[in-house]
Amino acid sequence: MEKRRLYMDYSATTPVKKEVLDEMMPYLTDYFGNASSFHLFGREAKSALDKAREQVANLVNSKTNEIYFTAGGTESDNWALEGVAYAHREKGNHIITSKIEHHGILHTCEYLEKHHGFEVTYLDVDSEGKVRIEDLEAAIKDTTILISIMFANNEIGTIQPIKEIGEIAKKHKILFHTDAVQAAGNIPIDVKELNIDLMSMSSHKIYGPKGIGALYIKTGTKLHTFVHGGAQEKRRRAGTENIPSIVGYGKAAEIAKANMQNHIETLTNLRAKLIDGILAKIPYTRVNGSMEDRLPGNVNFSFEFIEGEGILLMLDMLGIAASSGSACTSGSLDPSHVLMAIGLPHEIAHGSLRLSIGDFTTVDDIDYIIGQLPAIIERLRSMSPLYDAAMKNK
Ligand SMILES: *Cc1c(COP(=O)(O)O)cnc(C)c1O
Repeated sequence: MEKRRLYMDYSATTPVKKEVLDEMMPYLTDYFGNASSFHLFGREAKSALDKAREQVANLVNSKTNEIYFTAGGTESDNWALEGVAYAHREKGNHIITSKIEHHGILHTCEYLEKHHGFEVTYLDVDSEGKVRIEDLEAAIKDTTILISIMFANNEIGTIQPIKEIGEIAKKHKILFHTDAVQAAGNIPIDVKELNIDLMSMSSHKIYGPKGIGALYIKTGTKLHTFVHGGAQEKRRRAGTENIPSIVGYGKAAEIAKANMQNHIETLTNLRAKLIDGILAKIPYTRVNGSMEDRLPGNVNFSFEFIEGEGILLMLDMLGIAASSGSACTSGSLDPSHVLMAIGLPHEIAHGSLRLSIGDFTTVDDIDYIIGQLPAIIERLRSMSPLYDAAMKNK
């Protein structure tokens, strides 16, 4: 029997949809021009670039000329933070973010603190992973130049109160950046309604190619250029545009927008089935993150008394791909900074499993994992001294 390949790691990356690939192919062959060239080949590339920019803008209700293509979410995060920090230095050196951000934000903040004299406040989150609005207001100082709070968390799926955060930033005349890599294309976003000044996005989390993303920069926002060397992207991000990937990203954004309602409904139903099925079958289990304000495709469990790494290994033997936190931290033994921030004790954070589903997940896939996981957990617990001790104390 052929081994089943079941992908439940859509938060780490997604496959490129066929319609996206079809749209990209001609730009790798016939229409290979440099968008800066004056001739026909250049103009073809330039018009593809313009179209993709419009498709991405439509996804988040920005103006077309407020979308800047980058090499992905991480670059957008670095650019937003460093670009604003350097451009607003004379006004202040204080940045507010949260403890549960992606490392694209956290490591950039640490760099700005260590090498450029910035001061960063890392807000705590509540047990669901939400920033408290009163904490945010209390953290604001005269020197605060930027608030950067992620739209939705990549590990536990919690969606932040972005509208309230945007209102506070506006009231205090502080720039507001959000890392929306997990959100943009998965849930509706309107940057105007939400008072967002800068927003990071990425293609490969929404069925587009890897290595391409965008930074939304509201008209009039001052920030330094991050990549120097050419007039591309209005002199704000140099380098010959990656037209095939940009075209793919544009198409992926268009599909995401057209399918949004169906995508949300389908995934929310599959997610409920997965959560109910696992909680009914496996005792000493909790779901991390908010149950109401949650990405449609995210499930994050903690199974007491065992290690997430063990679960991943056994799932992998069955051909099931999952994650025990963020892909970037697997391979290290520290528990996830997100699970620690929502207050999970060390040993429970260690026993966590992220199952993230997407547009190619079927009911059959959900049944399969519900069928397989209980035996894996039971087996790992049977080898766990913690479980043994806990059962003896019953
Ligand atoms: C994946 C991810 C990133 C990084 O995006 P890349 O395009 O892979 O560089 C940043 N932030 C969040 C929340 C993510 O999930």
